[in-house]
Amino acid sequence: MKNPSLLILAGDGIGPEVMAEVRRIIDWYGANRAMAFDVFEDLVGGAAYDAHGTPLTDDTMAKAQSVDAVLLGAVGGPKYDDLDFSIKPERGLLRLRKEMDLFSNLRPAQCFDALADFSSLKRDIVAGLDIMIVRELTSGVYFGEPRGIFQEGNERVGINTQRYTTSEIIRVARSAFELARRRDSRVCSMEKANVMESGVLWREEVQKLRDAEYPDIELTHMYADAGAMQLCRWPKQFDVIVTDNLFGDILSDTAAMLTGSLGMLPSASLGAPMASGMPKALYEPVHGSAPDIAGQGKANPIACILSFAMALRYSFDQGEEADRLEQAVERALGNGARTPDLMGEEGGTPLTTSGMGDAILAE
Ligand code: ATP
Ligand code: MG
Repeated sequence: MKNPSLLILAGDGIGPEVMAEVRRIIDWYGANRAMAFDVFEDLVGGAAYDAHGTPLTDDTMAKAQSVDAVLLGAVGGPKYDDLDFSIKPERGLLRLRKEMDLFSNLRPAQCFDALADFSSLKRDIVAGLDIMIVRELTSGVYFGEPRGIFQEGNERVGINTQRYTTSEIIRVARSAFELARRRDSRVCSMEKANVMESGVLWREEVQKLRDAEYPDIELTHMYADAGAMQLCRWPKQFDVIVTDNLFGDILSDTAAMLTGSLGMLPSASLGAPMASGMPKALYEPVHGSAPDIAGQGKANPIACILSFAMALRYSFDQGEEADRLEQAVERALGNGARTPDLMGEEGGTPLTTSGMGDAILAE
């Protein structure tokens, strides 16, 4: 049988530093679990621009389309700030998302017990938190036409259009229901059906899909503003939240901060199923290239390692190994392993990026 294939695009700044720790974990799987991956590496973002004058070559794009999963580090940095918009490092990532048609963005908000006191909220609100936000990523108000700034008489008007088709709603809702089946079988759908027609359609289509194909899933609906409030008040009431592009942008950042550091947050972006039956997929930490700490061994590799755990679960059908990897992270943290971003008032000596990698590998 063919090995599962993975394209690693480490990118810029701390991207290569955190990705090095994932490489060690992949090697560990090869040596200890007889799980071999065909790993390809390539350039993206500023690194690709420096080498080829473009943030993503056609060749890299084609590789991304052909593998089982793409794992990306981070792109961008001050060196590239003055580049033309069309060749900025971020365009490389946007092209990947667009051409792979990754319409479903999964952002877990999970609070490891060892870090519960690190949240800005009270321990009992966040300890043991494990929710998943599914955000529609390729449509809605960020893409709808008409858009632009126009002159109307004496006034200028800025226009964006929220637009959703039934198929766009159904495909992202389906990914949320499928996810819920692997979790706690509960989905809460959020929109503003009280004031937006696109929200009315969203609510109707999500409910119809649930009734027709997912009767085993408990579906509730909430207005997104009330949902934001509930997310801060008592987030553990949720399991999977599915929502549109704009509300998902805001709600997923809100949920992220329930759990502490940016250095802890993984993400997955999924598209339509491939011939293998698994979805097209790109995994990446939520954080950026962090130029302020790049090259100093200070970056926390956990977000990138947890992104690989998501790849194990959603692209390689290795849910148990994903659980074990997450447990190893949890135990390392429980033993007191901390990179500088996870240091609280109590002080102590922080680990380097590879020191955190060691601590996780040891578990
Ligand atoms: P982008 O526009 O690419 O999202 P950004 O400037 O919004 O980038 P980051 O690059 O993620 O954000 O950095 C924000 C802050 O968080 C920085 O101070 C950075 O050092 C810190 N940070 C981000 N990722 C990590 C990490 N993995 N470990 C430690 N600190 C991090
Ligand atoms: Mg940012």
